Parts: sequence; C-alpha cells; structure tokens
Amino acid sequence: MKLAQRIQQIKPSSTLAMSARANAMIAKGINVVDFGLGQPEFQMPEVASEAAILAVRNGYTKYTATAGSDELKEAIIQKFKNENQLSYEKNEIIVSCGAKHSLYNIAQVLFEAGDEVIIPAPFWVTYPDQVLLNDATPVIVKTEEKNQFLMTRDQLQCAITPRTKAIILNSPANPTGAVYSKEDLEPLAELLLATPISIISDEIYEHFIYDGKAHTSIASLSPELKKKTVVVNGVSKSYSMTGLRIGYAAGPKEIIEAMTTLQSQTTSNPTSLSQKAAIAALKEGGAFIQNMVSEYDRRRQLMVQQLNKIPGIRCLLPAGSFYVFPNVQDLLGKGLNTATDLADYLLTEAAVSTVPGEPFGMDGFLRLSYAVPYDKVAEGVERIHQAILRL
Ligand code: PLP
Repeated sequence: MKLAQRIQQIKPSSTLAMSARANAMIAKGINVVDFGLGQPEFQMPEVASEAAILAVRNGYTKYTATAGSDELKEAIIQKFKNENQLSYEKNEIIVSCGAKHSLYNIAQVLFEAGDEVIIPAPFWVTYPDQVLLNDATPVIVKTEEKNQFLMTRDQLQCAITPRTKAIILNSPANPTGAVYSKEDLEPLAELLLATPISIISDEIYEHFIYDGKAHTSIASLSPELKKKTVVVNGVSKSYSMTGLRIGYAAGPKEIIEAMTTLQSQTTSNPTSLSQKAAIAALKEGGAFIQNMVSEYDRRRQLMVQQLNKIPGIRCLLPAGSFYVFPNVQDLLGKGLNTATDLADYLLTEAAVSTVPGEPFGMDGFLRLSYAVPYDKVAEGVERIHQAILRL
C-alpha cells in the first residue's frame, strides 16, 4: 500500500521512542532511572480527581461544545486575567485534546506550501514535524549555550524573509529550561511588530519557574502584540494531568474560529470529564503547583550540582521547566561519536534513560528530566558518573 507523501516527511516522536525502550527494560525487571520522562510524576490535584468522578456520576458524559464548555472557557479567561494580565472573550479561546492538539490546529489553519516558520533550536521535537505536515518549511535558528539558549534579536532578524508566516516561541523551554524574561522578549517583539508574522507562544511550562523569576507572555507586552499572538497552554504539566488531554489556545477570533471549525470536523470536543477536572484544577490548584514546583527546585539544584562534578559534562542551571540540557561534547569522539551513542551507552551500561540532543536540533547535548523523586535524581546521576568514569 502506498501511504500519503505527507506522513513520509515526519518521524515518530523520539522522546516517546526513548521512553518505550526504558519501559521495555523496566518490564524485564531492570531497575531503570528514567530521566527521559516529559511529565510530572505527582498525583493530579485531589479536587480535580473529585470533579472528574462527580462528572461521571452526574452523567456529564455527552458531547460538549466543540471548543470546550463555557464553564471551562470562563476558568481559562480568569486564569489569563489573574496570571498573565491578558483579557480574552470566549470566542478567542479554544480547548483542545492537549496543547499538542492546539498547536496542530494552529498549524493547520495558518500554514501552507511556501510558508516559512521560524523555530529556535533546541526545540520541542514536535514543532518542525507539525510545520512539515502542513507543507510549510521550518527555519531553524540555532541558539547558543553562551546566550543561555535564548534567541537574540540579530538571529531573529537574519531568519526573517518575506515568506516568514510565523514564529514558535517556547518559554520556559523544553528541552533547555531557558526562560525569556520581559527584557529578553522586548527586542524580539519590537522586530516582530514591524512585520505581519504571527507569534505562536507555547507557555505549557509557565509555572515551572525558579530563582524568583516570573513568567512573561509575549502577548502581554502590548495590545498590538496580543493581536498577532496565539498563546498555547494546558493542564498537562502544571497539574500533572498529562493523560487527561486538555490544552487550550487563546488568540485572534479569526484564528480561533478557524480552529474550531477544524476541530468540529476532526476530534469534536475534548473529553467532557477531563474538562470538569481542568476547571477544578484551574480554580483550586494553586497550592498544588506551589508544592510541586518547590520540590522540583530542590531536584533541579541537586541534578545540576552533581552533573557538573562529572568530568566531560558541563551543565547550565536553567531557570525553568523540569529539564536540564548538559553539554557532553567533551565525551564524544572516543568510541561514542554522538549524544545518541552516549544516551545508548548510559541506558545499556547504567540503566539510566536520557534523551540525546539531536532530535531537539542540537547534537552534543543530552536532555535529562528531573520529574523523578529526589533520591532517584541522586542515584541516576551517580550511575551516570560511574559509567562515564568507565569510558
Ligand atoms: N509543548 C511542549 C513544549 C511540551 O514539552 C509538551 C509536552 O511534552 C507539549 C506542548 C504538549 O502538552 P500536552 O500534553 O498538553 O499535549
């Protein structure tokens, strides 16, 4: 059978592939420390669980409005007001089956052949493939470790052409943990304002932010920027609800309406029960986030401190998300040629799962998630240390 050309342009998600390998080892009884994970291991907030259970009991099990219930949209509108100083109407909000789905809907309604989409690297593995699936061309801008993996104004300027349709920003970032402050965003915003380029701002890690830093949404910098930005967020990470599949987007009415039409012909509404859980999480989950993030801060510091003791590894202390992105270039070249070889070695020799930098658009680095208990962070990094000493 001949499959469509479209699907031949993309690859399975490499982060999911790595976790499948780790899971296969765990199933064989091997004690794997899994730093490959892209999800918090906390139980979702109790109020959210109760809301979902109550929804089943009350028969809230039918279709809802395609773009999400009014009640959930109101909770999202309130969240944007309180946390991001952004004000939206209901027709500027869509709820989808995860942030990934919102991002895909945006790509479908905005991109077409001939369009270029700027993506700073390292990037979340899904962005380029979603661009390719919609016949557009990803334009990758390699950021530098010395700039904390933040794209500079000059880099952005060089990447813009008359074909540039959009830019995908992600702060706090996966895989680097980089955070764009208001001051970092302003020069980029100034440049973008002078163009018709749309901004897609993926803020899914918004609450995972440390060292007293604050999250800034680029849409909040001015009313003009808000008009050209679609903000994407969701409950997967902040409330440890990855399996419930609730993400959302907020932006210009025209784009949101197009996404709603698309969603009406593809998935229809996101799961009704998950919507109820998301409402409870958004309204009452503040303390849950605080506890989780302060625990993640401890793990972040431990992981970075211990990684930097390993000869050949250099690791920045990132200000956000729950990943670190150490430089392993000094370990390559003696049998292990790429970070993928190193990740394979660590999985087979130390039973520690990591993700190599290549699929994120940057070789010579590994991504490690600290969404694992504190003692596992200590154990996993120690195993890496010992395995590297054996090289
Ligand atoms: N955006 C980024 C940067 C992510 O890392 C992820 C998940 O790993 C997502 C979006 C997807 O989130 P969701 O589970 O809501 O689809």
